[in-house]
Amino acid sequence: MNKFYSYGKQTIEQDDIDAVVEVLNGDWLTQGPYVKKFEDDLSEKFNAKYVSAVANGTAGLHLIALALEWKQGDIVITTPITFLASANCILYAGATPDFVDIDSVSYTMDVNKLEQKLKDYQIKGKKVKAVVAVDFAGHPCDWKKLRLLADKYSFQLVNDNCHALGAEIESNIGYACKFADIVNMSFHPVKHITTGEGGAVLTNDVELDKKIKILRTHGITKDEKYLTKNDGPWYYEMHELGFNYRITDFQCALGSSQLKKLKSFIKRRIEIASYYDEHLSNDERFIVPELSAGIKHAYHLYSLQIKFDELRISKKDFFEKMKENNIGLQVHYFPVHLQPYYKSNYGFAEGDYPMAESFYKNEVSLPIYPLLANDDVDYIVKKIKEFAI
Ligand SMILES: *Cc1c(COP(=O)(O)O)cnc(C)c1O
Repeated sequence: MNKFYSYGKQTIEQDDIDAVVEVLNGDWLTQGPYVKKFEDDLSEKFNAKYVSAVANGTAGLHLIALALEWKQGDIVITTPITFLASANCILYAGATPDFVDIDSVSYTMDVNKLEQKLKDYQIKGKKVKAVVAVDFAGHPCDWKKLRLLADKYSFQLVNDNCHALGAEIESNIGYACKFADIVNMSFHPVKHITTGEGGAVLTNDVELDKKIKILRTHGITKDEKYLTKNDGPWYYEMHELGFNYRITDFQCALGSSQLKKLKSFIKRRIEIASYYDEHLSNDERFIVPELSAGIKHAYHLYSLQIKFDELRISKKDFFEKMKENNIGLQVHYFPVHLQPYYKSNYGFAEGDYPMAESFYKNEVSLPIYPLLANDDVDYIVKKIKEFAI
């Protein structure tokens, strides 16, 4: 009875533990063969030509910003309903952030509003450098339209894919690299598969991959082809200002072990989502997440909207009641443009993105992770219905 349900949680089994212990008993803790193995596994799974495993998803986004050479004055657009890192990577590069409001069905970037914004910039004689679109909650964006716009308005297209490992567009699990120029993943414990901390950058572009790999490790190269001279086997050169954004071998062993289970993890997440759908969708008080045509949702989050305006209970009281009953909801997300840092440094304000703001008022993320049992889900649904009055 003292079980506590958080909105997300990792699944670690004995074979995962064994995989890590094996590496710990070996010769390499970092920069050994397991990093390459994990990269190859990701490459195969998601049909990406090149993969770089990195320290975490935020480091991956930073490397993407550097590899795409964003700089001061460049305009880069993302969505307000995302984790801070999707927007902060724009600031790391010294570029200028802008946002496009979310779509009412997928809660991802509204592609029509994006096109309007691109036109508005064009009229002002300005060009958009890049778009970072986020497959929010595990629902892929309208990537076909995004690709068309990227080609038409010639901007770089980034998929912050952290929520959507295992999602599909028209049965293609490798859609991220198919449509975007470069893709970012995170393996934080609340995500679909975990390496503790960890992330990966995926691309089909060999030049971008080269830059990512060099920037990941201090901007250093040892590759004969690129050295300006060669003093001997010890010799290396620094060609870029890079970082130490590497990941360890034992984390990558865990990653490879986890990746094998992605399919079953997604299957269980979909079962739980279907149960929530079934029990909450025919109730006036709730709006359950919808699917766009041709999409397989990966349900990193189950994003329920509750019409608090029409209820006696406030969102805050509802949240607390649920917590008293061992149900740890979360809210994804407080819109990024309303963060004090963004308001005061970039002039964003209340009312700029009304869909995102009203979504925030109603949204709660329900517990969803593979280890949640049917009885647990049943209990959570019962409590939601009991308190949402
Ligand atoms: C988790 C997440 C990140 C950051 O990943 P970390 O591994 O926690 O640094 C970036 N973007 C989105 C959308 C995320 O959900």
